[in-house]
Amino acid sequence: MDQPAKLDAVSQPRAIERIVKGMPTSDGAGVKLTRVLTQDLQQRLDPFLLLDVFRTDDPDDYIAGFPEHPHRGFETITYMLAGRMRHRDSAGHEGLLQNGGVQWMTAGRGVIHSEMPEQENGIMEGFQLWLNLPARRKMIGPWYRDIPKGEIPGYVTAEGVAVRVIAGTSNGIAGAVQREVTEPLYIDIDMPADSLFSTALPATHNAFVYVYRGEVTIGGTQVGEGRMAILANVPQADGVVLISSGPAKAILVSGKPLGEPIMQHGPFVMNTKEEILQAIKDFRDGRLAPE
Ligand code: MN
Repeated sequence: MDQPAKLDAVSQPRAIERIVKGMPTSDGAGVKLTRVLTQDLQQRLDPFLLLDVFRTDDPDDYIAGFPEHPHRGFETITYMLAGRMRHRDSAGHEGLLQNGGVQWMTAGRGVIHSEMPEQENGIMEGFQLWLNLPARRKMIGPWYRDIPKGEIPGYVTAEGVAVRVIAGTSNGIAGAVQREVTEPLYIDIDMPADSLFSTALPATHNAFVYVYRGEVTIGGTQVGEGRMAILANVPQADGVVLISSGPAKAILVSGKPLGEPIMQHGPFVMNTKEEILQAIKDFRDGRLAPE
């Protein structure tokens, strides 16, 4: 890992607008997970559409996996902290996602894929984030990249905070993926006890922090384990500051809102009802993701 030359100056850190607990749910063929970014938050957290958190050592919670299903109109970013998941899709991509690796998949006009656990016991832990595509790019060709842990850029601050930059740029370190239009930032922050971490965030971007180990304090408010803090949007704000008392781990996600209508029907996210009906028809007719 690198050492950043200098931390971003943050003089007006963001406060917390709201803390979200998430909803236990099941998806795929019966995978138990917590949906933290739910449909009712899509407008508020535009361009992000969903955040699922999975963390279990009970194989019954994950063994059924996510057999073949379609997607259209957005990107899925899966960050696997522990466990092994095999991906196969209709565009001919296949990959094994494991141990700190990230899979970035652009569904675009359509993919049909499966995401199946490749283990029968042990811990499965990770996140799946959905990032919307702008209207004019929803029907682009599918794209896919597996990014093993070792290829994710990172840095350690003078206080010993270890940061992995999956997307965007944090404290001068560019991440593994860059995206125009929505300019997503996605970082994983590993804080030792009694440390402070800061990074710049454009005031116009929607942002949230999800704490997955320990707890952190943001703008004087404590955020406990398994909680998402939605950061307030204030015109003067120039970044975010996290303070830990004990060891803590969190992801920070931000992006520029698209401000376009969001129409979701299950695995399809388009702008209009007509486009959703077309996606359903294309899938039914075998034209969503022709081989
Ligand atoms: Mn999927």
